[in-house]
Amino acid sequence: MILFKEAAALSGYLEKQQKKGVSIGFVPTMGALHQGHITLVTASTENTGLTVCSIFVNPTQFNDPADFKKYPITIEKDLKMLSDAGADVVFLPDVKEIYPDGLEKVRTYSLGHLETILEGKYRPGHFQGVCQVVHRLLEIVSPDILFMGQKDYQQCMVVQHLIDLYAIPTRLVKCSTIREESGLAMSSRNMRLSDTERQKAAEIYRTLQYVEQSILPGDLADIKGKAIDRLINAGFRVDYLEICDANNLNIIETWDGKSPLVTLTAAFLGDVRLIDNLVIIHS
Ligand code: AMP
Repeated sequence: MILFKEAAALSGYLEKQQKKGVSIGFVPTMGALHQGHITLVTASTENTGLTVCSIFVNPTQFNDPADFKKYPITIEKDLKMLSDAGADVVFLPDVKEIYPDGLEKVRTYSLGHLETILEGKYRPGHFQGVCQVVHRLLEIVSPDILFMGQKDYQQCMVVQHLIDLYAIPTRLVKCSTIREESGLAMSSRNMRLSDTERQKAAEIYRTLQYVEQSILPGDLADIKGKAIDRLINAGFRVDYLEICDANNLNIIETWDGKSPLVTLTAAFLGDVRLIDNLVIIHS
C-alpha cells in the first residue's frame, strides 16, 4: 500500500497507471474507519484495478465546530485496516493540499432543493462543503468509479448532482449500509456513544423498520408522528424523520402506494447526532 500526502504526486502516479489501462476505484473517507468503510474498499478492489482511499476530515462540511473538534482520529488503526482490506493507495492530505487557495476562497455549487431539505436544512452549508471536498478529490484522483455509502443517502444524491453538473467522467456506485448486529448503522460517531447509548441507538433502525412494515397508501402524517414519538420516547432529540420519494427526496405527504419511498432520520442521543435511512421495499 502506497501512502501519498501531496496531491500532485498522487495525480502523477495515478495518471501513469491509467495510461497503462488500469481502472481506478476511489473511496473518500474521514477516517475512524469501520466495517462500513471497508465494504466500500472491498467493492472497489473487486471491481477496479487499483483502489485509492482518502482520509481527510474536511473542515468545510462541519457546520458545528464542536463536532469537527470531536471527530475521532484513529489513523494507525485505519492504515492497518486499509492494508488488510487490499487498498493500493492511501491519500492523507492536509488542508493546504485540498484547499490551496485557502478556506476563504472555496467554490460554491448550485444544488437546488437538495441543499435546503433534511440534512441541508439542519446543517446549513454542509453539502457545499461536501461538494468542495469531493470535487477537489475527484480532480486529483480522476477515478473511473467512486464508491459511497447509502448510509448517507442525501450525500449520494448531492454527489451524483455534482458529477452531472460538471460532466465528471466518474461513475458513482452506492453501497448498502452496513449495520451492527443490533441494527445500528455503523458510523465513526458511534465511538462517542456509551454502551447503554449504543443499545438505545438501535431504536433508530427499529423505527425505520416500523415505518416500512406499517406504511399504507394515503396520508402519512399519522405514521410519521408515531415514528417520531417512538424516537422521542426512547430518549432521542429528533431533528427530522421524513418519508420521501426515493428518486428525488421530495417529501411525500400522501402516498399513492406506487412511488418508491425512503424514510430518513437524524436524531441526537446526548450530543451525538446520528443519521440513518431505509428504502421501503413493498410487495
Ligand atoms: P465518512 O468517513 O463518514 O465520511 O464516510 C465515508 C464513506 O463511507 C461515505 O461514502 C459513507 O456513506 C460511507 N459509510 C459510512 N458509514 C457506512 C455504513 N455503515 N455502511 C456503508 N457505508 C458507510
